[in-house]
Amino acid sequence: MKITFFSSKPYDKDSFNKQNEKFGFELEYYETHLGPHIINAIENTEAVCVFVNDKVDAQVIESLAKKGVKVIALRCAGFNNVDLHAAKASELKVCRVPAYSPEAVAEHAVAMLLTLNRKIHKAYNRVREQNFSLNGLLGFDVYKKTVGVIGTGNIGRAFCKIMLGFGSEVIAYDVAANKELAALGVEFRSMEEIFKHSDIISLHCPLNDQTKHIINSTSIPSMKKGVMLINTSRGGLIDTKAVIDALKSKQIGYLGIDVYEQEEELFFRDLSTNIIEDDTIQRLMSFPNVLVTAHQAFFTTEALQQIAEVSLNNIKMLMEGKKLDNIAAQLA
Ligand code: NAD
Repeated sequence: MKITFFSSKPYDKDSFNKQNEKFGFELEYYETHLGPHIINAIENTEAVCVFVNDKVDAQVIESLAKKGVKVIALRCAGFNNVDLHAAKASELKVCRVPAYSPEAVAEHAVAMLLTLNRKIHKAYNRVREQNFSLNGLLGFDVYKKTVGVIGTGNIGRAFCKIMLGFGSEVIAYDVAANKELAALGVEFRSMEEIFKHSDIISLHCPLNDQTKHIINSTSIPSMKKGVMLINTSRGGLIDTKAVIDALKSKQIGYLGIDVYEQEEELFFRDLSTNIIEDDTIQRLMSFPNVLVTAHQAFFTTEALQQIAEVSLNNIKMLMEGKKLDNIAAQLA
C-alpha cells in the first residue's frame, strides 16, 4: 500500500522511513504542497500525508477521491486546513496526530517568553561583536508575574505547569475548565479577565470561527500596557495589523510568534536570496521587541518520532477498517 507525502522535508523522510520499518508501506515523497497542480502525479495511492500549510479544500478532496485515495492523514494536531465536510461527502477518512509532544510546543513558548524578556537574541549578537555592555538588556522577574493562558488542552496544560514552576500566578480561560490544573493552582477566569490582568498572555487554543482574531483592536486596549503576547498556536488567532499598531503605541511590549496568518507563502522555505513581498511580516521583524520563529515549536526529535509512528499507525488502522480515536474531531 502506498502513501504519498506532500510538503515533505529531509527530516520528514528520515523519521517516516525509520518508523516505516515496522509498517512496510511504500512511501512516496513530494516537496511541493498538495494542490490542483500536483493531482495528476498521484497514482495508485491509498493515503496522502499532509502538513499544516497544505490547503486540502473541496476541489482537492474531490480530485483525491477520483484518484482512489481513501485517507487524508495530517501529520500535525490542527486540522483547520482541511474541509472536513467535503471529506465526509467524498467518503475520505481524515486522521491527525492530536498530541505528539505537547511539551515540545510548550517549551518553545517558554523559550520565546524568556528570550524576549531577557533579550537573549540581542545579547547573543552583541557579545559576538565584543560589546559587553548591558544597556538596553534589562528584563523582569517572571516569578510572581501573572501569566494568562488561553486554551488549556494538551499544550496549554504543559505550558501552565511550566509557568507554575517559575512561581508565576497562572490564570487561564478555556471553554471547558481543566480540573487537574485548577487543583494545581491555575485559576480559571473569563477571557476578558485574562486580557485585563495578565503581564504575559500565551495562546494555546485552536483556530476556528470563535477564535479567529481574538487578539484584535478591541481586545488589545483592554490588556495591561506593555503586555507580552506569545502565539505558538495558529496565526489567524491574531489580527496582525492591530498588533502592529499596538506595538507602535507600546500597548504591546513584546511579541513572540511561531505562527503567522500568511505563513504558507514563507515558512518552511529558505527565501534568503528572495525579495519578500509581504510588507506585514517585514514590518513585524523590524521591531526590536518582536521575535518570529518559522513554525518550529513542534520540532524536536521526540515529536518527529511520535508524529511518524502515530501517522503510520492511523493510516494502518483506517485502511484495516478499525476504530480510531485520532480522526479529526468534527467527523468523530
Ligand atoms: P488541544 O485540542 O489538546 O487543546 C485545545 C484547547 O483549546 C482545548 O482545551 C479546547 O477546549 C480549547 N478551546 C477550544 N475552543 C476554545 C475557545 N474558543 N477559547 C478558549 N479555548 C478553546 O490542542 P493542543 O494539542 O493543545 O494544540 C493547541 C493548538 O496548538 C493546535 O490547535 C494547533 O493549532 C497548535 N499547534 C502548534 C504547533 C507548532 O508547532 N507551533 C504544534 C502543535 C499544535
